[in-house]
Amino acid sequence: MNVTICNPILRTPLSLIVDDSCPVINLTYYWIQQRHAWKARHQPNVPPGRWEGDATQHKKMPPTIPADFAWEWAEWCWENGVKGKFSLIPYPAGVGRVDEGFPNFPTHEYQSWLRIYREIIWPNFDLTPEMLTHTAVVDLDTFALTEEWEQVEWVDPPVDNRLTDYIITAMEMLNNVGIPCEGVTSPGAFGKRQEAAYAKAVLTASQEVNNNPCPFYFLWLKHDELPDVPIWHVEKEKGIAIASIVACAGDWFGGWTGYDLGDVDRFITEDGQGGRLPPILEKELPCVLVGHWPGFYFNGEKCGFDVLKTVKSRLDNYDPDGTKTLWMKTSEIGHYWMAREFTEITVLEKQQQINLSTQFPTADFTLVIDVPIRRIQVDGWDLREVHSRRDFQRDTFLCEGKQTYVAFDLEIGETELVVTV
Ligand SMILES: [Zn+2]
Repeated sequence: MNVTICNPILRTPLSLIVDDSCPVINLTYYWIQQRHAWKARHQPNVPPGRWEGDATQHKKMPPTIPADFAWEWAEWCWENGVKGKFSLIPYPAGVGRVDEGFPNFPTHEYQSWLRIYREIIWPNFDLTPEMLTHTAVVDLDTFALTEEWEQVEWVDPPVDNRLTDYIITAMEMLNNVGIPCEGVTSPGAFGKRQEAAYAKAVLTASQEVNNNPCPFYFLWLKHDELPDVPIWHVEKEKGIAIASIVACAGDWFGGWTGYDLGDVDRFITEDGQGGRLPPILEKELPCVLVGHWPGFYFNGEKCGFDVLKTVKSRLDNYDPDGTKTLWMKTSEIGHYWMAREFTEITVLEKQQQINLSTQFPTADFTLVIDVPIRRIQVDGWDLREVHSRRDFQRDTFLCEGKQTYVAFDLEIGETELVVTV
């Protein structure tokens, strides 16, 4: 018997990453305002670059994104089964703390936002900090903003305790509103030049604050190579590791600015053949899409949200019976890939037994065994046989020709499969 680990329930993971989201305020409005003020202080003779935002566009931009829009967006995602990661910047632009409120804005907006985060977004999206402000670096002693920027100077961050303390502070602010995070998001390229130290700092912070030994971080968006899920700092026997969730497509919704409209065809064309996603789906590699919250809102015109709706309907056409793709939270992708890489499989041919050993649990763990099987038990429990990929789900098995697919939730420790051929 040959045993191989497959994608979860034979579906290719899909995931939507949403960056730059925070309660009440429109991050882009403050980001451009603060960046241009910084330029005036430090480089008065150098006009802002394109990446620093357009002053004319800024004049038309609202300083807030209403909770009503978050409700509409999140409800649509829920109804359409879209899952992924949604940022909760804990001290956005230094304007207000998520655990204290936003003094210059209506209290009911802040309260609605928190409720939407907890009740509608969280069930389907990992909520992560995107560091502390997503603008200037915070002095942790005074909570004042410094002249350094999280995504400029801290692309090459200090690699001592300051980095770990910074991430711990961000995670604790989410905990103060009852949201232990599964990982973090880099604002821009935060940490990129010290990736090993950055990954280690996130792992240490996650263990310390949330007792979570297998978190993830989102840093990379790669358009020029096939996606992978790199795992760092593995301690296999202890079940400790951190996953780098690498996105492969975006941002073609509405940009980080909310005035750079993207294009559905860059994700997937109407015939389902062209664009970035179809060749990756064909190779059955995890498809992680990236968008920015102000881009979905698009200064109230919701154009980026319309792009998302069309992308989703084209992906549905690509997979009409739901047998090819599976929307997942990014943490679920991380956990699956850890289990995939760090589960020992031993086949005891004579006893018709397969033993699994892991410290990395995951949902929907899926194996293919290269013999037709009539009966299979996992730790003494019979799995139900199904006869189509559509019905194939956890706690079932499916024979196709000479192969048998088996899916169940993998738990920490030893798992014993007994098969009858
Ligand atoms: Zn961002």
